[in-house]
Amino acid sequence: MTLIDGNLISNQIKEEVKEKVSQLVQAGHKQPHLAAILVGNDGASQTYVGHKVKSCEQVGFKSTLIRCEDTITENELIQQIHQLNNNPYIDGFIVQLPLPKHIDADKILLEIDASKDVDGFHPINFGRMCLNLPAYIPATPMGIMTLIERYKIETAGKHCVVIGRSNIVGRPMSVLMSRSGIDCTVTLCHSRTKNLKEECLRADIIIAALGKPQFVTKDMVKPGAVIIDVGITRLEDASKKSGYRIVGDVDFEGVKDQCSFITPVPGGVGPMTVVSLLLNTLQASQKLIYNN
Ligand code: NAD
Repeated sequence: MTLIDGNLISNQIKEEVKEKVSQLVQAGHKQPHLAAILVGNDGASQTYVGHKVKSCEQVGFKSTLIRCEDTITENELIQQIHQLNNNPYIDGFIVQLPLPKHIDADKILLEIDASKDVDGFHPINFGRMCLNLPAYIPATPMGIMTLIERYKIETAGKHCVVIGRSNIVGRPMSVLMSRSGIDCTVTLCHSRTKNLKEECLRADIIIAALGKPQFVTKDMVKPGAVIIDVGITRLEDASKKSGYRIVGDVDFEGVKDQCSFITPVPGGVGPMTVVSLLLNTLQASQKLIYNN
């Protein structure tokens, strides 16, 4: 079994991005600049945004964190987004999800200028991705594709089962795995799928993105399958300083000797999400996807 080391690959990519930024700056270009809007005080969201800001510093990007009270109205948040859309010094920005219940996230995401939508959540980017046109690819699926590429995992003609159909992970993942050049036959499973175990047992590649800790067990995995674990769940753990531990959607200990490749949690897909955001921002700063 080969452990897919997301920390190692993400550090390599950060070095590559840092080198590219230094070349751009030496050639007289400005530093790429990512902004993030964080609404409220959700612990996990603060941690994720913190990682994104720190990663920007590591590679030589500028970053701007805009914090809003969780009492902000939908209209006020839209104003904030319009300001970033019109700010020529910001190359790309994200609105950290989830948003408070009184704000309609779909409505908010529609307000982001597609050319600055480095999370790739806007329907224009999603549509362009489906049509194989230049687009910002959502960060987590893009990170998984990078791991598959860098570990030279065979995909052509393989059967890939994606568990979870969310707009940010499962559904885009199913699109990317079926693309020409990757050439998997994809089955997209969700909470209403019947015979999930049988579907998984037919899979050469399982991508688990359902948010249910240790859901995928050894009896669901064909010997030699590739396992990509996207899940991140915080479980209470008094033995940890933080009071919790992070668990994925796969029973790692049970599955690891059954498969050919596996991503650990933490240290697998998670770090790749952040570097994909950096790569999208680098593309935005060079106007490689949209040239306006
Ligand atoms: P979501 O809650 O939006 O979607 C979950 C999906 O799983 C749904 O489509 C649902 O139909 C499906 N599902 C739920 N229960 C199921 C079951 N019993 N059988 C089959 N399908 C089932 O979640 P999400 O935003 O896609 O995130 C999924 C997981 O990935 C979460 O743990 C989240 O924290 C994690 N995540 C990790 C990263 C990362 O960087 N590693 C990024 C985003 C999300």
